[in-house]
Amino acid sequence: MANSVFGAIEAGGTKFVCAIGMSSGSIINSIRIPTRVPAETMADVIAFFQNCGRPISAFGIGSFGPIDLKPASSTYGFITSTPKESWRNFDLAGTIQRAFNVPVALDTDVNAAILAESQWGAAQKLETALYITVGTGIGGGAIVAGKPLHGLVHPEMGHIRIPHDFARDPFPGLCPYHGDCLEGLASGPAIKARWGIAASELPADHVAFELEADYLAFACVNWICTLSPQRLIFGGGVMQPHIFPLLRERTRSLLNDYVNAPEITERIDHYIVPPALGNQAGVLGGLAMAMSAIEKADY
Ligand code: ZN
Repeated sequence: MANSVFGAIEAGGTKFVCAIGMSSGSIINSIRIPTRVPAETMADVIAFFQNCGRPISAFGIGSFGPIDLKPASSTYGFITSTPKESWRNFDLAGTIQRAFNVPVALDTDVNAAILAESQWGAAQKLETALYITVGTGIGGGAIVAGKPLHGLVHPEMGHIRIPHDFARDPFPGLCPYHGDCLEGLASGPAIKARWGIAASELPADHVAFELEADYLAFACVNWICTLSPQRLIFGGGVMQPHIFPLLRERTRSLLNDYVNAPEITERIDHYIVPPALGNQAGVLGGLAMAMSAIEKADY
């Protein structure tokens, strides 16, 4: 196991990040492949690993979704009802498994990210923690009692409903399923549609960020009251540094000292934090999953 080389894939809607790494968490080589139709994208992914010069012992994939994670299901490992039509009902895990015939672990991209943060980053030694990404969409992954949280399907934390004051924010929201769910109101595309400018282009003191922090704080309160995480890690392109102080202040104010933990009442700067692994959390999560896949396969 110590000398094993693992394959990690962060499968995203705009790019696939593929990496070869060691159990120490060090990445030997990596590549970014633009997401096109499955046949073209996967041909490039498979070629990268085939040409890496070393046999891969196991793969871990953190994927955009929704994905089928039920081992007993006939469509286990498939991407299911994604708006990206060519990827709908695509057998992602099986395609890699058939190409390399080694164990393949699959989870959501956000569960992969919280796994990596738990192993090497901002959630080390914590039993229960969340990783939220706020970018093209909003998604959340959770470690609960030391294990990635699954369930009926997998959590869809970006699609929770939050209060929407139409007088303050007449924007109707853009989730195709729910309109003004959290993702519909607070994702990167929602900010751009509401203000006409991307979050990364808006000045730091723009009123957009107060509204954004308020929406994310409502969500934080719901997640804190539901899962009681020991830390919330926020990544994704929208989460620029100046949002964090607003988000912490608003979350604490909404909780109103009801959740009586010093992590929130005294040390919230260390409670709502950016990822320690930066934008590597996703692909490192794939590495962590590959390592556990080979343990489960009893090699
Ligand atoms: Zn929604």
